[in-house]
Amino acid sequence: MLYPTPVCLLFGDRVEHSISPLIHNTAFKCLGLSFSYVAYPIQAEDVGKAITKIDGKSILGANVTIPHKMAVIPYLDSLSAEAKAVGAVNTIHVQDGKKVGHNTDIEGFLAPLDQTTFLDKNIVVLGAGGAARAVMVAVHTKLRPKSLTLVSRRVEKARAACDTLGFGEAADYSDIQQLVSSADLIVNATPLGMPPLQDEMPFPLNIQFQSHQTVYDLVYKPKKTRLLLLAEQQGASTIGGLPMLIAQAAAAFKIWTGKTMPVGDVEAALNNVIL
Ligand code: NAP
Repeated sequence: MLYPTPVCLLFGDRVEHSISPLIHNTAFKCLGLSFSYVAYPIQAEDVGKAITKIDGKSILGANVTIPHKMAVIPYLDSLSAEAKAVGAVNTIHVQDGKKVGHNTDIEGFLAPLDQTTFLDKNIVVLGAGGAARAVMVAVHTKLRPKSLTLVSRRVEKARAACDTLGFGEAADYSDIQQLVSSADLIVNATPLGMPPLQDEMPFPLNIQFQSHQTVYDLVYKPKKTRLLLLAEQQGASTIGGLPMLIAQAAAAFKIWTGKTMPVGDVEAALNNVIL
């Protein structure tokens, strides 16, 4: 790992097509910062070795994505309160010589939500991975939900996540229409809808949404997933994953540089890439 300028790295197993380099390199350029952001594929056995390279100087920090968000934790000196609560890290920063793990998905998820609208509501989250857990923490701490249900194909996985988090009810898909019917906010935190699964939906095709409901899809590519198009057709409000993607990146950018990401420039750059 030898780079001419200080770099931020993205660690994951399939990061070659990530748009995070475009986001951060656009922001670095717009602010005249001589940093760069590089996607760096690593396999599970190399996680520890990769983390030791982060020195806060030539390697300023890192983002972490699937499947290493939990695996990096033993190699860090401390965790932020958010990373501790979620049990997963998506951003690493060196502070006073110590490697600190952060989770900016919580801030990212909340960014496009009008929080007062969703206070004390019934909320359903699909998926049981790192993103779903960040959503659960965001919802539990900021929206104080009336009910919070985590739906997973394997209910034991959702149950384990709820047990670790200390809140939430676990469910499988057997009663999904009933769960959806009583929800105010429905969040997709599975990869269904994103290439190569762009033709798939996390719900049965005959699912019914209502006009008072909001469907939030964490998938950001395409901008309008099949799920969002269906929810819109049925009169529900929708939120796509792109604002979250930019907001979680902006929070990481701030941690590394102390500067505010020029979000307008980043959005303009992404407009050509995410349709
Ligand atoms: P992950 O750790 O791989 O977890 C995905 C979860 O989805 C799994 O726990 C799995 O639970 C469920 N799942 C997978 N395939 C499924 C299928 N065919 N049908 C139903 N459920 C399925 O991934 P993640 O990090 O949580 O990310 C999830 C999604 O959120 C990804 O598409 C990612 O790109 C997106 N995301 C977006 C942002 C953003 O900024 N917009 C940020 C983070 C993540 P079960 O197998 O138990 O059902």
